[in-house]
Amino acid sequence: MTTPNKSHGRKSIAASLKPRSLMEENRLARAWTAQIITLFPNAFPGVLGESLTGKALREGIWQLETVDLRLFGEGKHRNVDDTPAGGGAGMVLRADVMGRAIDHALGRGAGPLVYLSPRGKRFDQQMARDWAALPGVTMICGRFEGLDQRVIDHYRIAEVSLGDFVLTGGEIAAQAMLDATVRLLPGVLGNADSTADESHSDGLLEHPQYTRPAEWQGRAIPDVLMSGHHGEIEKWRRAQAEALTRQRRPDLWEAYTRRSKGD
Ligand code: SAH
Repeated sequence: MTTPNKSHGRKSIAASLKPRSLMEENRLARAWTAQIITLFPNAFPGVLGESLTGKALREGIWQLETVDLRLFGEGKHRNVDDTPAGGGAGMVLRADVMGRAIDHALGRGAGPLVYLSPRGKRFDQQMARDWAALPGVTMICGRFEGLDQRVIDHYRIAEVSLGDFVLTGGEIAAQAMLDATVRLLPGVLGNADSTADESHSDGLLEHPQYTRPAEWQGRAIPDVLMSGHHGEIEKWRRAQAEALTRQRRPDLWEAYTRRSKGD
């Protein structure tokens, strides 16, 4: 899936605490850092290794470090899970195993500790902005029935959800959240303006976009976009964004109008 010897700027962390070189240390200090505790380190960087996030990873604007939970497992088989106390279906990730992985990750620094969880606060653009302003983030990907509650309580871990649905593991959620965050880091997007009026940046959904050909399947691009009148184009886009938001997302529209009235 990935090609670890052809570096993606990705570093896997083994359980050893070997001192790293000064150069590496400096690089770590500069770059925005995502640490991911996961049973599936090979799932990273995944799609984050492609396109703009991949380029930024290779350029060292951000870096990704996976912490392989298996290495902190119990016994010969490196067990990481056990049956739920009180009975019931499935398996639960052990507190002691996860605790060791977390201690290892925390020793390396990098941002708030987050557990990806359908019970968490819903991830949104504001959270992406907040994370992008920090040195990085450390994410715990759950599997099975999730994590022993005592770990969450002990480390006061913030639970964050990708949405109101249940995934089999936190890895896809982690990649989605990292994608949204990393694209906000300076130098990741080619055109710094392109985050300014996109959906969710100012509380509105984005206006429709068009490109060549000028006519397709009998459908023309709206005249105003071909007019060259920047003022008119701006007005049209604003009106479209407002209409779309009002129609599709009454919740966002309500918040937007409340803010515009200044209360
Ligand atoms: N039994 C749990 C769900 C476990 S799903 C419950 O009902 O709340 C297994 C793992 O997938 C979770 O530990 C979590 O890390 C991840 N996961 C599932 N849905 C998610 C979501 N909507 N957002 C973020 N992570 C999620």
